[in-house]
Amino acid sequence: MTPPPRQFHGSQPVDVESNAAARDRELGMDREITRRDFLNGAAMAIGATSLPAGAFIQFPGEPQNRAGYNPPASTGLRGSHSGSFEIAHALRDGTFWETARKPAQLDEHYDLIVVGGGISGLAAAYFFRERTGQNARILILENHDDFGGHAKRNEFHLGGKLQLLNGGTMLIDSPTPYSQQAASLIAKLGIDPVAFAKKYPLPALYSSLGLGSAIFFDKQTFGEDRLVAGAPADWGESDRPATKESQWKQFLQSAPLSDAIKKDILRIETGSADYLPGLTSAEKKDRLSRLSYKDFLLNIVKADPGVIAFYQTRTNGEWGVGIDAEPALDCWALGLSGFQGMKLDPGPAMRMSYSAGGYSTGGSPRFHFPDGNASIARLLVRELLPDAVPGRSAEDIVTARVAYDRLDLPERQVRVRLNSTVVRVQNVTAKEGGNAVLVGYVSGDKLYEVRAAGCVLACWNMTIPYLCPDLPQKQKEALHYLVKVPLVYASVGLRNWHAFHKLGVHTIQSPGAYWDSTALNWPIDIGDYKSPRSPELPILVHMSRTPCKPGLPAREQHKAGRLELLITSFETFERAIRDQIARCLTAGGFDPARDIEAITVNRWPHGYGYEYNPLFDPEWPRGEAPHEIGRKPHGRITIANSDSGATAYTDVAIDQAFRAVSELLDA
Ligand SMILES: Cc1cc2nc3c(=O)[nH]c(=O)nc-3n(C[C@H](O)[C@H](O)[C@H](O)COP(=O)(O)OP(=O)(O)OC[C@H]3O[C@@H](n4cnc5c(N)ncnc54)[C@H](O)[C@@H]3O)c2cc1C
Repeated sequence: MTPPPRQFHGSQPVDVESNAAARDRELGMDREITRRDFLNGAAMAIGATSLPAGAFIQFPGEPQNRAGYNPPASTGLRGSHSGSFEIAHALRDGTFWETARKPAQLDEHYDLIVVGGGISGLAAAYFFRERTGQNARILILENHDDFGGHAKRNEFHLGGKLQLLNGGTMLIDSPTPYSQQAASLIAKLGIDPVAFAKKYPLPALYSSLGLGSAIFFDKQTFGEDRLVAGAPADWGESDRPATKESQWKQFLQSAPLSDAIKKDILRIETGSADYLPGLTSAEKKDRLSRLSYKDFLLNIVKADPGVIAFYQTRTNGEWGVGIDAEPALDCWALGLSGFQGMKLDPGPAMRMSYSAGGYSTGGSPRFHFPDGNASIARLLVRELLPDAVPGRSAEDIVTARVAYDRLDLPERQVRVRLNSTVVRVQNVTAKEGGNAVLVGYVSGDKLYEVRAAGCVLACWNMTIPYLCPDLPQKQKEALHYLVKVPLVYASVGLRNWHAFHKLGVHTIQSPGAYWDSTALNWPIDIGDYKSPRSPELPILVHMSRTPCKPGLPAREQHKAGRLELLITSFETFERAIRDQIARCLTAGGFDPARDIEAITVNRWPHGYGYEYNPLFDPEWPRGEAPHEIGRKPHGRITIANSDSGATAYTDVAIDQAFRAVSELLDA
């Protein structure tokens, strides 16, 4: 047997394997917590590419009808979980139909089949029924084990008490005010974001306890591990007053950065220089739209190159790529620094992304449910199937327990069928036996076929060419253009938050580390749901990772990140979670082996809908952008999802559903 590799530190041989094992023990990798799936994510993903045709994942029986079925409470690898994507990947790889079995014809007839049970698909069902009446028969097919799509609920019972976090879509918030259709839909669901934000404000709990923001400087990027508390709270607001200078000076004093870098960060954050003198506001905006924020800092502000590591991930959360791939103008609109003295007129300009253009004029009202916009998905299902989701208000939805076994009953007009991957959607002409759409889907190890008068594809747009191979080539190419943004949101259950309290932090940004950010859950109370108020109590921590690859064009970064997620095992995510929290909070007495009680990793290889990026995408003539070509109706098939609005917001998902239903009914 080959001996394990050895490293030599001075004269002391160090056994790498046993060091790694010892570190794993310190981190608590061997501890019994609620975490691991039975199936390892990486093994499943690799298996998917070599999945023999017709070798379906086995799901005995109808999982959603089993007693105790409650996917939000599942831990381990969630988001696009094992079992949700393998069939779709086999379809993409061209292996699925090679040995696909003969489909079973279902004796079910629908007015509408919706593919995808995210907010867009659920909204499509809602709008269709609103237009056609309560007798409309609708089937919603969803490949995940839960409805909601990205609007995913993570449910924990820590210390016997319910605690919630969003596993994906976080809050009602959009660059532009909600359209009339989207606003009236959420009003009909009982949600008034403005009134709710007043009635259920985010309590000043953390600030009352002296907790604030911090930056974690990691050894690999900054030469040493150091948590520096007291990061200016308004980091990210462009019109900050000059009085913040003292705050920045104080914060930077403790940062492991050279004096030159500190001086330039201070200049970027609090200076008032006009870096493009002699140009009008419009000329400056045009110039800023043609270079990245990184280039702006290096070549216009002429900052020390060492500042880049500090700023690199500032845009990750918004766009899924760092400052190397985001235009400086968009960063100005999002409130990044360096523009204070440049006298840019407020408002949008030509060559801005959807988000930047919208936010530069204000944005929509904001409200956050404890499980994020999963509450919207659950309210939509309550509208469609009242006896499956108990309760009557947008407040009691937070603690309602869904009766999953009532989602797909033959006697109901609306049926929601989970764990069902659609593989074929085909128009059937009158000559072929009826003006209808034939939908093939896989559930368990079986292929089924079912008919409807029409179909809304509310699924991820890039899957559509595989479902509808007879689409025009130009439309298929347009659909492929939209590369979704990969993201990971982890929800980590802690026994208590003493360490956060002791160190005076509630949110930690980590510009160079594996996880971009680590934050105590927002302390929001609504209805019967109460957040933990004392550091003694268990709490959830939200961590996010953006697996981008700086230096590549944005869409290439998304593709590379997606691949990374598919080959990353839960164990790797878990180790990275334990390691990073431990390194951030050691001085506060945090012990990852003792203090971590549960982990859910929401892996989203196909996350945010693609938003055009002025640095990389051409300006298409009106009606000729890929999402506009891609969403064209195809016979009795129409196309929804936030992808077909070329952006990633809940209001857009609803608007696209409304359009797709109108196209179907008005054709
Ligand atoms: C991590 C994350 C955070 C976000 N945060 C916010 C936020 O705070 N606010 C906001 O407004 N938006 C946010 N978004 C954007 C979010 O995508 C939209 O708001 C909205 O939830 C999208 O809804 P959708 O129905 O269009 O798509 P999805 O939610 O993606 O739903 C589509 C569904 O179709 C299913 N599907 C795909 N192919 C098939 C098939 N062949 N057969 C059956 N089903 C299929 C998918 O699995 C999925 O469940 C976030 C997105 C992510 C990933």
